[in-house]
Amino acid sequence: MRREVYDPRRSPPKRVPKPDALAVLAEANKDSVDPSLFYDSEEKKRKDREEAEERQRKTELRRKKDRLKQREQNPKDEWVRKYRQQDVFDEVDDEKKEHVRYFCEEMHDEGGKRQYIAADPVDFWRGYSQIPVEKRHFYELMRENTPCHLYFDLECSRVANPEVDEARGDVLINHLVDLVREELMHTDEIDATNFDVSEHVIELDSTSETKFSRHIVVRLPDGQMFENNAQCQHFVQKLWRRVESRRDEDERCRALFLKKDTESEDATEPLIDMGVYTRNRVFRLYLSNKYSSGESAPKPRLETTERQRFWKTSKDGEKGKKETFMRSLASLCLDLSPKFIAFEGVTHQSVLRSKEFRGYCTGSYLSPTAAAFNGNAGCPCPRTAAFVCEDFNHWSAHDGAAVRSWTAFPEYGVLTLNLFGNRFCENVERAHKSNNVMFIVDFRESAYYQRCHDPDCRGTRGPWRDLSEDVLDESHALIEMLYEPPTLDDDDEEDVARVPTFDEMDEEDVRAAAAAAL
Ligand SMILES: [Zn+2]
Repeated sequence: MRREVYDPRRSPPKRVPKPDALAVLAEANKDSVDPSLFYDSEEKKRKDREEAEERQRKTELRRKKDRLKQREQNPKDEWVRKYRQQDVFDEVDDEKKEHVRYFCEEMHDEGGKRQYIAADPVDFWRGYSQIPVEKRHFYELMRENTPCHLYFDLECSRVANPEVDEARGDVLINHLVDLVREELMHTDEIDATNFDVSEHVIELDSTSETKFSRHIVVRLPDGQMFENNAQCQHFVQKLWRRVESRRDEDERCRALFLKKDTESEDATEPLIDMGVYTRNRVFRLYLSNKYSSGESAPKPRLETTERQRFWKTSKDGEKGKKETFMRSLASLCLDLSPKFIAFEGVTHQSVLRSKEFRGYCTGSYLSPTAAAFNGNAGCPCPRTAAFVCEDFNHWSAHDGAAVRSWTAFPEYGVLTLNLFGNRFCENVERAHKSNNVMFIVDFRESAYYQRCHDPDCRGTRGPWRDLSEDVLDESHALIEMLYEPPTLDDDDEEDVARVPTFDEMDEEDVRAAAAAAL
């Protein structure tokens, strides 16, 4: 008889069938086995599982409590703090931190040097309210492309406008809030039906002997918020155009123009500071003052106004302060289901989101001194700019095109040119009366096209037009910008002359600056 040898290549070994264990058990204890035994063991497994889950829940809860306690004791440990703004943004983005808001501190013990902070508003308040009052120099930072409420920075010289005392200040703010309400009613994108001044307006004051200064935050009803501060700016500009146009017939509008300084004969200066809607803008916080060095007197602190205390938005005590703080944050939504307001075609200048450089040309692009004023660099591609102007004059059959400002996006090989002189718009096939046109030069395409600043032309663009071969080498100048970046920290040092943005300059400003520089 041949012995059977197991060869794995041929077939698996035969398995001797075993009697079913349960069947044997059942046979052996035919009369005594209680089937519920099996259910009991299932039940036990479930219980064990539940107990394990409960233990884990308790551990997590304990950890959470410890964490909260820790945060309570050292709330500032939870803050992300960096010297560079972008480092804060990067950390928040990398770690997907939610619910944080951004702040900026002028550090008292470091001569007012700035640090940027990201923190949950509750953690921030815990830490902030523990800082001695004389060392609080904090700002809210409106990160670009994050939602915000309607906010205003209102100021005027009290030396030039001695009539602006607290009572007159109240009147001016009442006029403004009145006009805001009307403008809200005139804005299709916003539902202002439930707007209530005593509930939705937060008023803070830091008026000094020489300067009237208030901050207003308007929290729109029903959780409405602007998608970003460019939208907010759009609304404020719309409001201000109406104020300007009704200046002669409406006393409330007239009152919002003040004298700039003691030299001024006429009241031409807007009460509203239009420059506070730029990207990553900082806006001073409730209970903070600007840093000032040891020798000079402390600057006034931003506090609630006398009348604000009687409005629903402000209560007494530490709890009231916290509530006021939360409500005064222009970037904090307290509504569970916010609705974001956006106006068609409104963005911060461009959809390109890379390192960008900007500057102003003085007078004509042809001028050899067309370099700089206000510390801005000259256009990196002057021959390209000159070509675009000449070509534009030629195909539009108009003349006088000149570049008044430019923005470069070196990583994209894109240069935008804001023009004046020739306002011919391809979209309407004629020149606009008051709005200028711009050109987008794209070196990747070796071509350029027109865009237009007129509201009617929003979102439209002209056809591609070829660049001259002679100017294509200037794309290298763009790339070089990446290696030697000019400093572009657009922090709002009031003491340092602020470089106006393109939108803030009108043609006369540009011409005047050009004339002065030449
Ligand atoms: Zn147009």
